[in-house]
Amino acid sequence: MSTNPRRLSFWWESLPDELAGPARPALPGPTSVDVAIVGAGYTGLWTAYYLAQADPSLSIVVLESETAGFGASGRNGGWASALFPTSLDTIAVVSNRESAIALQREMFRTVDELGRAADEAGIDAQFAKGGTICAARTPVQLERAKQEIEHLRSWGFGPEDHVLLDAAEARERLGATDVLGATYTPHCAAIHPARLVRGLALAVERLGVTIHEGTRVTRIEPGVVRTELGDVRARRIVRATEAWTSQLPGYERDIAPVYSLVLATEPLPRDVWDVIGLDRRETFNDQRHLIIYGQRTADDRLVFGGRGAPYHLGSRIKPEFDRDPSVYAELWRVLLELFPVLEGRQVTHTWGGPLGIPRDWFPSVGIDPATGIGWGGGYVGDGVASSNLAGRTLADLVRGAQTPLTALPWVNHRSRRWEPEPLRWLGVNVGLRTMGSADGAEDRSGKPAKRAELLAPFLGGH
Ligand SMILES: Cc1cc2nc3c(=O)[nH]c(=O)nc-3n(C[C@H](O)[C@H](O)[C@H](O)COP(=O)(O)OP(=O)(O)OC[C@H]3O[C@@H](n4cnc5c(N)ncnc54)[C@H](O)[C@@H]3O)c2cc1C
Repeated sequence: MSTNPRRLSFWWESLPDELAGPARPALPGPTSVDVAIVGAGYTGLWTAYYLAQADPSLSIVVLESETAGFGASGRNGGWASALFPTSLDTIAVVSNRESAIALQREMFRTVDELGRAADEAGIDAQFAKGGTICAARTPVQLERAKQEIEHLRSWGFGPEDHVLLDAAEARERLGATDVLGATYTPHCAAIHPARLVRGLALAVERLGVTIHEGTRVTRIEPGVVRTELGDVRARRIVRATEAWTSQLPGYERDIAPVYSLVLATEPLPRDVWDVIGLDRRETFNDQRHLIIYGQRTADDRLVFGGRGAPYHLGSRIKPEFDRDPSVYAELWRVLLELFPVLEGRQVTHTWGGPLGIPRDWFPSVGIDPATGIGWGGGYVGDGVASSNLAGRTLADLVRGAQTPLTALPWVNHRSRRWEPEPLRWLGVNVGLRTMGSADGAEDRSGKPAKRAELLAPFLGGH
């Protein structure tokens, strides 16, 4: 890898030395294994973790072009949330009401499972299950928050899963400006993402899995993974490449890589936290359409990120796209607007990375029995916890086991492919802009707009 991985994110920089390196050996040459996994992020490593536990006799190799945790898993906002990007209504259309609810309930459990498994693997991921507070800061946003809770109640989710907070209750947790109310869910933990992914890499090695870093896969074919350093023959193959899927021959239109950018402040003193709150390390955002996300870190920094960077023609991914000064300036402006008490404080780190969006915003895991090729991903920026569910499910699918997990409605879901360029570029960027401008339009009109309606022109049918 050309860049020092420590520079990939604040998370990478703050890793203890024993988790940061050294680099693992590349594939020494052609080989044969039972299971080959492409990509050493959460998806690939959780799959290896649960698979090696379930059947220690399997030979498992993980092939990583850079270093374990190089991708989104080492750079994200650290929300281990129960968010699934596809609406319950849409999931029910492709399955049924019970299956949609079962998937959401399994996502709730997954947040706890992630904490349990990290503990079991001896990983200190600084896991704090403080939930998520989503502030409503305009009357329109408050109306949307109320509608959201009503909608969740109609699906049978009660106050133990989601509640509406009034202004006083909301401000007690989150000292942001203009807070009129909020939704709150306990189903989210703040984590240190890189500690999790780097710790997982060590944990799977202890279980007998081999990880080869610096080993780029050039093609995936039935029974064989082709790399620049030799072929790996395998009965089962799992593709866990998320945004980089778009760079693999044959998969160019499966996933659109879209950038999310993040900043971290210096550690903030007690008097600042007395104003901001987040005493239980609740993750936070607000009801605006353009996605923003924040967490209070274990060392009392604010980590704050958002979408808004453009999609690049031809699904290009380049290190320089991780950094966009205009997006950082906008993130800092939003943060100061939320918390004026941050005036004069330092931003110490800025970074970013690509996440993967399938055409219908519907993540999936699966395996094609005809080819033995499996996959997990398309998380649309909500993959920290769902990749754990993907790993557990793939461990079942690879072994041919039929379990409650393999019956969930995202299993073997097939999203249709993105349009050829330049239509894809136009569609994705119009979508990103629409989300931003909708916030202003909504404030002017006083009417809440639904995200699904905003995206309808470029999402089409499922
Ligand atoms: C800035 C940012 C913030 C985010 N914030 C959150 C958040 O707060 N909460 C949340 O739930 N989600 C968040 N996400 C999304 C989440 O991080 C991802 O969904 C999740 O990490 C995906 O894990 P993964 O293992 O599938 O993919 P990645 O972690 O991206 O791993 C893919 C790996 O595959 C390797 N690879 C790719 N192609 C090849 C190849 N040809 N050969 C060999 N190796 C290859 C890559 O180098 C990489 O290491 C965020 C994403 C970003 C970018």
